[in-house]
Amino acid sequence: MTTVDTLITSHNPADPSDVILRIAAPGAFAVADAVERARAAQPSWLHGGAAARSTALAAVADAVDAAAAELAALAVREVGKPVTEARAEVARTSAIWRYYAQAPYEPVGAVHEPATGPGLLLTRRRPHGVAGLITPWNFPFAIPSWKAAPALAVGNTVVLKPAPEATACAVRLAEIVRQALPADVFTVVPGGATEGNALVSCADVVSFTGSTVVGRSVTRAATDRGVPVQAETGGLNAAIVLPDADMARAATHIAAAVAGYAGQKCTATSRVVAVGGALGPLRDALADALRAVTVGDPAAAATVSGPLIDRQARDRVVEAAEGLSVLSGGGPLDRSGWYAAPTLVEKVPPGHRLLHEEVFGPVAVLLPADDLAQAVRITNAVPYGLVTSVHTGDLSAVLHGLDALDTGMIRINAPSTGVDFHLPFGGTKHSSHGPREQGRAALDFYTSSRTYTISPAG
Ligand code: NAD
Repeated sequence: MTTVDTLITSHNPADPSDVILRIAAPGAFAVADAVERARAAQPSWLHGGAAARSTALAAVADAVDAAAAELAALAVREVGKPVTEARAEVARTSAIWRYYAQAPYEPVGAVHEPATGPGLLLTRRRPHGVAGLITPWNFPFAIPSWKAAPALAVGNTVVLKPAPEATACAVRLAEIVRQALPADVFTVVPGGATEGNALVSCADVVSFTGSTVVGRSVTRAATDRGVPVQAETGGLNAAIVLPDADMARAATHIAAAVAGYAGQKCTATSRVVAVGGALGPLRDALADALRAVTVGDPAAAATVSGPLIDRQARDRVVEAAEGLSVLSGGGPLDRSGWYAAPTLVEKVPPGHRLLHEEVFGPVAVLLPADDLAQAVRITNAVPYGLVTSVHTGDLSAVLHGLDALDTGMIRINAPSTGVDFHLPFGGTKHSSHGPREQGRAALDFYTSSRTYTISPAG
């Protein structure tokens, strides 16, 4: 994948000679124009009524289902997503639109008695106007959808700036969505930082998902303009394994979370903290489980770990393990495409970048801890706080000890990856800024509350 100021080119990461798309970047003016048109379309989208919005969102869900096989194949080809995961993402995408199709009928406020005297107090949530959405390439259908669907449901219009690496996926999703909606209610403007910056400078609410460094600059720019902003960013997620865990099962879950989609998920596991006697058995079981991961062509049904998105990403994974004690993997694969072997390393020196930077690839560090309290301290000792998985045979014994975990999500006896779109999603520290995404929380983010005081006339 190459992006320059004026050209967007997307390549198949499994076969870089396969060019999927080459288009001129539209530039900042195109973004401003799309936002203006979306702003003009917003009042009639809102005032067209709840039923029209609900019907339109449900129609998007049906259209995504109808195009499911084609969309999954496009994600395989453009972002190297293993086909089983690509199909699951498309199924989740239609479920998200269907879930939010009910939201237009939800109450938007409440009626209260005044604290003193007669009259009425009302609260009412209103949409912000134009939602500017900026998304990464790794979930090219689900992430734009889990932002756009709640924004549209409550009466905003949307301008989406997708990641350049996933432009073809975004353009195809937009064709499907736009067929179900009035003109200018949902617009995709492809591009990179120039177009993203332009969107942050004129949207009425901004939702960003991507790297922490870009997320922080987007947050600052939107905050300076006084518009609401949320940013879902990086992770450096730990799996904590207690000695009483079923080691084979824990190793299977952790291997899937380290290596699934070549570790290119914000919720991927990149640190494995073994408590006490768990270290020995886990070390062997996890190294074996990672060696057994099927790495290869993302179009093959058995593939768990496909290519990295581009050469730079592949090199970052390989370099991260250089000079370390490697238990499994640790190099590029000798085939065309940006493949790296799922990698487990141990005895990593303090301060090593693997202990504080997100690599965004299939590499994990094994770390020992004396007890659960130390495992929690190790887990918390990073700038991120997205998700932790905990593997144990006795939930009641650990629940109290987990109170001190500083991550937004805790998954017990499950991989760190995986989300339930009807619950709030997000983390702490540099993993998230602002209100949570998904579930009912998203409906609050895309609206602001007005309080009305109504005194009796006369
Ligand atoms: P990225 O930050 O490079 O790009 C994200 C988006 O921001 C893209 O659309 C990009 O074009 C745009 N952008 C780049 N510079 C910009 C700027 N200056 N102003 C405005 N927009 C700009 O991230 P990526 O490589 O596409 O995605 C990988 C990252 O996303 C990883 O860090 C991963 O952890 C994170 N991620 C987080 C979540 C989550 O929910 N927490 C989910 C998926 C991915």
